[in-house]
Amino acid sequence: MNKSDARVIIVGAGHAGGTAAALLRQFGYEKPITLIGEEPLAPYQRPPLSKAWLKGETDAEALMLKPESFYAEADVALRTGMRVASLTPSQKTLTLQGGETLAYDTLILATGARPRPLMIPGADLAGVLVLRSAADAEALKASLGPGRRLAVIGGGYIGLEASASARALGAEAVVIEREPRILARVANEILSSFFTDYHRARGVEFVLGASVAAFDGEGGKVTGVRLASGEIIPCDAALVGIGAIPNMELAQAAGLACADGVIVDEAARTSDPAIHAIGDVTWRHLAHYGRPFRLESVANALEQARQAACAITGRPPPPAEVTWNWSDQYDLKYQFAGLPFDVDEVVLRGEPASGKFAIFHLAGDRIQAVEAVNAPAEFMAGRQLIAKRAAVSRTRLADMTISMKEVAA
Ligand code: FAD
Repeated sequence: MNKSDARVIIVGAGHAGGTAAALLRQFGYEKPITLIGEEPLAPYQRPPLSKAWLKGETDAEALMLKPESFYAEADVALRTGMRVASLTPSQKTLTLQGGETLAYDTLILATGARPRPLMIPGADLAGVLVLRSAADAEALKASLGPGRRLAVIGGGYIGLEASASARALGAEAVVIEREPRILARVANEILSSFFTDYHRARGVEFVLGASVAAFDGEGGKVTGVRLASGEIIPCDAALVGIGAIPNMELAQAAGLACADGVIVDEAARTSDPAIHAIGDVTWRHLAHYGRPFRLESVANALEQARQAACAITGRPPPPAEVTWNWSDQYDLKYQFAGLPFDVDEVVLRGEPASGKFAIFHLAGDRIQAVEAVNAPAEFMAGRQLIAKRAAVSRTRLADMTISMKEVAA
């Protein structure tokens, strides 16, 4: 069969799956496309769920990846509220939870990730929440407001964004973190202390180096978080934000090669040549860093959707991108690019106290990653320098009197 004659089924109608469907049409793919998602909604954007949407600054319509009319216009059969239960790669079929079987020529797995559960007593109490879906966000929003107290388990980006949004809605927020500092897994110490101070100044409390032992409740509803020390942190709701795990069970059961995600190549192809995987569910090789990794970001979902769509329509592969991400908290725009692998030195540009600074992570004289707070020029230039693998001078990088354009020259 000619490549362009194949039927595509996309499993997972999220950011990656929705983008792949749109790109296939944009690249001239004319055969049937079916997009199957277990959520009741058409593909939507998750980042605002902890930011603008949670604070009430944007409405549900603005979350949608594409306007409602897009799917009919683009002739994409969108089947929401449907869970794919199993794959049979040897027959190129999949089975929906209700028993219906569908045949594909090319399959794209875009099943994303889910919140890592906290397996402790009381985790099933009402008011113990996670934040991944629009439905989760609705439940969180309903529990925030003046006189309410939110306990956030995990000082990662989503937890911090939710804390900032809780404060904006007049609720109290307390962040409980196992490590001695917040953002320990993902950010430099300078950033951890900067964000801690910034949140504290806006009324967020922090309990650091604390292990959570249980949720206490009354009448089936959470009333507090019990620490291993015995201390109880009272709350009206608790948000568990301790990371995400890939939804790769379908792939595993179908015999596809998996690590901490479905293993894919630069064309987002899995160990089965008829199956691609894209987005948060993948374990991909990062050419720039010479190692595999699982990325959880919109940029990654878009890049891999493009890789798969190019491969399926016979286009040349798109150029590799430097990974990037962002976080909005209060009036802070934090952006980072690259990954801090093999770093032997960190260069600070600007003063954290000014609320505008950047941290460059260097391996030798090359930038591996940049973290920028309210410093878009540093972020943009840093990202370009990473992509070019350009040699930089530490002293010039740290010198605010030298513009990033000149540093990059
Ligand atoms: P998802 O968007 O999770 O979509 C996967 C879909 O597949 C889901 O709808 C799921 O229900 C469905 N599915 C799973 N299994 C099945 C099945 N068996 N059958 C049918 N459907 C199935 N990234 C950034 O870059 N910047 C940010 O600021 C940012 N903020 C975020 C804030 C929040 C609150 C969250 C939750 C995420 C944030 N992210 C952010 C991450 C970003 O949203 C994800 O990287 C992105 O959504 C990944 O897209 P995806 O399509 O791989 O997965």
